[in-house]
Amino acid sequence: MNLWEKHDNEGTLRCLLCPHLCLIRPGKRGICGARENRNGEVQLVTAGVISGYAIDPIEKKPLYHFYPGSSILSAGSYGCNLRCDFCQNYHISQNSDPGGSPRLEPGELVSRAASIPGNLGIAYTYNEPVIWYEYVASTARLASRKGLKNVLVSNGYIMPEPLKEMTEFIDAFNIDLKSVSNDFYRNYTGATLNPVLEAIRIIAASGRHLEITTLILPGLNDSVEEMKWEAQWIAENAGTGAPLHLSRYFPMYRRRDPATPPETIIKLREIAQEYLDFVYTGNMAGTDGGSDTFCPSCGKMVISRTGYNVRIIGLTDAGRCSNCGQQII
Ligand code: SF4
Repeated sequence: MNLWEKHDNEGTLRCLLCPHLCLIRPGKRGICGARENRNGEVQLVTAGVISGYAIDPIEKKPLYHFYPGSSILSAGSYGCNLRCDFCQNYHISQNSDPGGSPRLEPGELVSRAASIPGNLGIAYTYNEPVIWYEYVASTARLASRKGLKNVLVSNGYIMPEPLKEMTEFIDAFNIDLKSVSNDFYRNYTGATLNPVLEAIRIIAASGRHLEITTLILPGLNDSVEEMKWEAQWIAENAGTGAPLHLSRYFPMYRRRDPATPPETIIKLREIAQEYLDFVYTGNMAGTDGGSDTFCPSCGKMVISRTGYNVRIIGLTDAGRCSNCGQQII
């Protein structure tokens, strides 16, 4: 797939990976800071540059319905195609590679992942993995051949064609739907809403595992009307069984507003539950019971979560409720 094209006779290239469609002059980089016009082509300059990696619970991505209770090698790099005021990982997302970071070829990362006992696979996360496209593609294809799973934690700001290709080698996605207001996207992220909605539709249509996360910011995206719209839209476009995570905001980066009141998250969860079977709360210190999974058919608890301590208590090996047989995961 061609991820760039020539724009003029002066060497300017257009990157075709995400909806910014950056025009990049020779020697310059696009908005994400990871892709440079070098030697007459757009090159990924952070290929294999690792800002950090760790074995994380899969619930930390968050993915609650994809191999619950498992661990996954998680890795990230530098840069992002968004400019969120409230970025939780701004020290790596809003920075270019500072130099001195370890570099891992795809084969090396896969070998490390494969050598960890019980490891589910590789999660591409921490900064924005969409802009790491070629590296993710090479690594994920190798990892799949070794029987490992691939997980992408992303803002979903990507053009349809490269995303469709990604669904061939990524097994599970968590997509950040930051708001259902285009004004919110424009004012606080430097992006637009529709490409993210389209990304969710594409992943849902592909049949790959999909969960959605919304960070709730007080006064910005916490209205009852927006939550109704969002939950209804997810139900219609990704299905009522698509898990939604409502995450509590804490002051970070450029935003200094107080943290979201817990009661706001609890209220919005109740609203979303009118449309969706599985709505979870996040960043709540596990105090509200919003991390547990209940069967939408008979109401029995099937997975209990306290922090990252996960207990499967009512789920068959086929992912069904052991009480009534309802498919859960
Ligand atoms: S991936 Fe980076 S360089 Fe390409 S269009 Fe998006 S922000 Fe611009």
